[in-house]
Amino acid sequence: MKRIRIKLHWQILIALILGVFFGLYLKDHAYWVEWIGEVFLRGLKMIIIPIILTSIISAITNIGSGNIGRLGLKTIIYYISTSILAILTGLILVNLIRPGAGADLGLTGDVEGFALVEKSLGQTFIEMIPVNIFKALVEGKMLSIILFAFLFGFVITQLNNKHKETLTNFFNASFEAMMKLTMIIIKLAPLGIFGIIAGVVAQTENLSELALRMGEYMLTVLIGLSIHCFITLPLIQLLLAKVNPLKHFQAVSTPLLTAFSTSSTMATLPLTLDAVEHNDGVSRKITGFTLPLGATVNMDGTALYECVAAVFIAQAYGLDLSLMQQALVVITALLASIGAAGVPMAGMVMITIILSAIGLPLEAIGLIISVDRILDMFRTATNVWSDTTGALVVARTEGEVFKV
Ligand code: ASP
Repeated sequence: MKRIRIKLHWQILIALILGVFFGLYLKDHAYWVEWIGEVFLRGLKMIIIPIILTSIISAITNIGSGNIGRLGLKTIIYYISTSILAILTGLILVNLIRPGAGADLGLTGDVEGFALVEKSLGQTFIEMIPVNIFKALVEGKMLSIILFAFLFGFVITQLNNKHKETLTNFFNASFEAMMKLTMIIIKLAPLGIFGIIAGVVAQTENLSELALRMGEYMLTVLIGLSIHCFITLPLIQLLLAKVNPLKHFQAVSTPLLTAFSTSSTMATLPLTLDAVEHNDGVSRKITGFTLPLGATVNMDGTALYECVAAVFIAQAYGLDLSLMQQALVVITALLASIGAAGVPMAGMVMITIILSAIGLPLEAIGLIISVDRILDMFRTATNVWSDTTGALVVARTEGEVFKV
């Protein structure tokens, strides 16, 4: 079994490289293969909502009502602390490197459609309660779906034994079926990723020109993400989860490569659930609870990116942010990363929150839009890397023993 998995992530890596070449050298023919990527992505998206619903309900029923609060608290503490660590890494770097000082202010992209995200925090919480759960499911309102799944799972644990057993078995079985479907879709991963990458590369502007214009900014984000991925999170894996980071990396390499290629934590979720449960050996009740939640609210890469981008824009406008303003950036970056959906370019849209908080014009997004697609790949992989670390940490504190 293990050998097949190793083969799969090598297959994906080769597909990724071939996709880059195809996009570069057969730019005008990218449409020949893009559709395969689309088929793969649609397959993944098809199962996201049923997976979230069944995994959370089945996890909560298996955890039991007495333990939900404790697990929930640990999970949230992990998510908030690592996001803050990521933001602080970004903040220190952007102040040291100062990529925005003297940056070209020519607006480089179309900013239409980036409406100001102006909902207050309170309103966001209120709107988490769905007035119609089916509408929420249809519209993919993740926070509402998660809330409903939590409540539904919780009340199942309160039922009499006969009903509790029926529903627990039903949701366990449904989740099992969804994971079987995931296994089928995973088989398409190498081909799908080849198609996606070929398309992305073909559509990206001249890379060397971009690197020249936005190089320092990109570098700041990438150095920040590297510190978080290769130092901060591995240290947490080593010290808190007590696992070998290299072995864990190997265990989750398929979801990491998929996250990188698809730029979507959500689309990657089925593969993340599979890898953390089967390769790392974390119990399903922990993965089913922490990973869907993490895919929606835990985005370390996005948080770091939000912070660097906002300070970069301020620097480009010649503004020196005061300590208070920087603190505001940290808090809003955290909220923006929690609010961002796990889909491509979500983080980019959420920057409007920070820009309006510190009083910068929204047009400034035009400055960073040209390189967003590339940075999105790296921050999404970071987001998934942190989600998997969270599952390990929570499981370890619950006394679980892993395969890695
Ligand atoms: N694409 C990211 C994700 O799915 C969100 C973002 O745009 O930062 O995790």
